[in-house]
Order: sequence, then structure tokens, then C-alpha cells
Amino acid sequence: MNPRLIVHRSAHQIGGNCIEIAFQGHRLILDAGSPLDASSEDAASPPPTLDTSTPVDGVIVSHPHQDHYGLLRGLPGSWPVWCGGPTEKLVRLTVALTGGSLPQEVHTFDSFTPFRVGPFKVTPLLTDHSAFDAHMLLVEVGGRRLLYSGDFRRTGRKAKLVDRMIKAPPKDIDVLLLEGTTLGRADPFPTERALEERFKTVFQQTAGRVFVSWSAQNIDRTVTIYRACKQTRRTLLVDLYTVDVLEQLGAYCKSLPQMGWPNLRGVVTAGIKRLYETPDRLNRPEFFERCCRSRHAFSAEKIESGPRNNVVMLRPSLLRDYVRKGLTLTKDDCWIFSMWSGYLNEGGYKAINEAFDSAGARFEQIHTSGHASRADLQAFASSINAKHLVPIHSFDWDQHTDGFENVTRLDDGAVFEILS
Ligand SMILES: [Zn+2]
Ligand SMILES: [Zn+2]
Repeated sequence: MNPRLIVHRSAHQIGGNCIEIAFQGHRLILDAGSPLDASSEDAASPPPTLDTSTPVDGVIVSHPHQDHYGLLRGLPGSWPVWCGGPTEKLVRLTVALTGGSLPQEVHTFDSFTPFRVGPFKVTPLLTDHSAFDAHMLLVEVGGRRLLYSGDFRRTGRKAKLVDRMIKAPPKDIDVLLLEGTTLGRADPFPTERALEERFKTVFQQTAGRVFVSWSAQNIDRTVTIYRACKQTRRTLLVDLYTVDVLEQLGAYCKSLPQMGWPNLRGVVTAGIKRLYETPDRLNRPEFFERCCRSRHAFSAEKIESGPRNNVVMLRPSLLRDYVRKGLTLTKDDCWIFSMWSGYLNEGGYKAINEAFDSAGARFEQIHTSGHASRADLQAFASSINAKHLVPIHSFDWDQHTDGFENVTRLDDGAVFEILS
């Protein structure tokens, strides 16, 4: 019997990844994601071809983005889950934020250290992505070798990991499951280091405060903004949730900036206090109190009454808290949007846009993709040189298979036997 591959979901869409490898009655699931456009009820509905009535040996989560783990709460509690230690921390934080919990037992793996799950040998290969702790997964079973790309890029702070793989690729790969999120865009993307320079320039050109909107879990971006602050002698004010994220991940990576480091303070706000004090949310009042007692805490009133050389984290809920504490925007202030531009049209950010616009403040967008460009995907695929390249995680694969060799196009739910 040969191993079989089934892409239950993500053959024709971005996210909702759920991939099965089956061998001699054993099953391994790679990622359990919710589709990007799913409503909260649909987010945890398993794809129709995934059999949830029988056990699996393990579910491996490549990285802490919901389109790769959001399905977990819809899967049996008896299915063991494996992921990196930082991924477990970030997943648990996000799940708690929305008032839920994970039904499964979670085991953690170390990057580059192979482990066994039933007959499957899995090697997690740390890679570069906008999520912290993102991995490609090499799976060996029944004499076959599959490489699952997860989500990756070659422009972030860990780009060298991808460069190294292209230079010295794993050998004899039978199947490469390759993401193609940004295949539809021909132009290359700026690097995080290039963004750092752009942040520095805007910080230097702004007389007043700079407000920046970015995801607290996009650690590369936090580092980029922090470095730009240090070099322009500004202080970065992050909310206490971001302080929490940095503190939890700091246990794994000593170079991550922490509250208490120069040019970094934690802003105390009512909304975050509620989150940490509510039993079915983050429910860690002691963390909030400890931060408040720290001399590195920063009161929200001081954003208005204090010095103007701060760079202040901004989300719709934070703006409401700052305004309640007296924030009045002026034409000397600036707002930098550092996320996917699609979010700009959503309610909360529309309101922020209007608030800065009516104050006559400057607006900038500084962002780069979390995914590999078409040229980088082609370079990666050609160096791996798999017998079968199975496209996933894109709406654009069918228009852009030129420049890729050995493409084996599967539909969601189709069973593909991996022959020798
Ligand atoms: Zn994804
Ligand atoms: Zn991702």
C-alpha cells in the first residue's frame, strides 16, 4: 500500500488548510484552519471529506494563524495536536481573547528536531513568515517524502532560513505542497528592513505623535517599529496585551523587545483591563496589576499631556480609550497603517481614518506581505524539484502555473496515491 494524500481544503482558496496523509490505517493531519471568509459558526465546521469519526495519529499545526488552526475547536478532543511552543502560547492567547478554549491536548515540538507520530516522521523546519514560529513540515512515511510549505516569505527577518533551503534543499521530495497566496501579484515586495527605513523617515518628518496600527502578533513588525523608534529617539507605547505577547514569546527568543527595555513602555487602558479581569476572556488580573505597578507603565492620559515624541500603538478600541482620557489629534500628528490594506475599509479603521483626516493629520501606509512573491515561489519550487508540486493556499494557481514544473493539480477531497 502506498501513502495517500488528501487536500481536504485549500486546494483552491487561501486558508482553511486541512491536509491528510494516510498510510496503513494511520492518519496525519497537516493544519486545521478555518477559511478566511468563514462566519464564526462556519469557522469550526470540518471540510465534508474529513472523517472525524475515526482517530488520527496527530494534527500538526504549522503556525499560529487562524486559517491554519481555527478548525481545531471543531475537531474531536481526542485528536492529539502538535505545534511549536510559541505557537501554542499565541493560539491559547487568541482563543482566550474570544472566550473559548482548545478541546485537544497539545504537544510541542522543537524546530529542526524530527519527531514520530505513529508511522510518520515529522521534521519541523522553521521558516520566514508574518506569523512568529512558522514552520514548513517535512513528513516521511512508507518510503515517501512530502514537504509542506505552510505559509512563507523571503523578505522578513528570518529570510535567511528560506535562502538556506533554496541553496541546500531537502533531497528526493516526492510531493511539495506549495502555498501561492500572492501569485496574482507580479511585483516584488519590500523587505522588513526596507520598512524600518520608511518608518524612520516618517518618524523624523513628524513634529507630533505617530500612531501606528499593526497586529500585536506580527512580531517582525513590532521589532521593525521598535528599532525605528530607537534610532529616532522616540518611545514606543504598546498596549498591555502586546506586552503580554512579547513577554510570553521572550521565553523562547531573548532578542524580542520587552517592557522595561529602553524606548518601550506599556500603556494602561480600560479596555485591556477588562480583558484581563473577565473570567471567560484572558482572566489574568494579576498580570494586569503587575504591569500597572511597573515603573515602565504609561498612563493613557499622558499621551495627551506628556511629551510629543511617542509612537503609539492604535486599534479602534484603543482610540476610544485614548479619547476618553483626553486625546485630541492635531495636524502635527501622523497615523501609519501597517496591515493589509483591505482592513482599512472596515468599520473601526474607517472611523480612525476619519478622525485623523478631520484633524488634518498625515496618513501613511507602510506594510509588506507575509507571503513569498511569484519569483521567490518559483525559485523555491525549482530548487526543491519535487516529483509532484501540489498547489494550495491561493485563488490564483490556475492562472499562474507557468514557471513551475511537475504541477499535479488536486481538487479539495480528491485522494492522491503517492507512487514510488
Ligand atoms: Zn495561511
Ligand atoms: Zn499565515
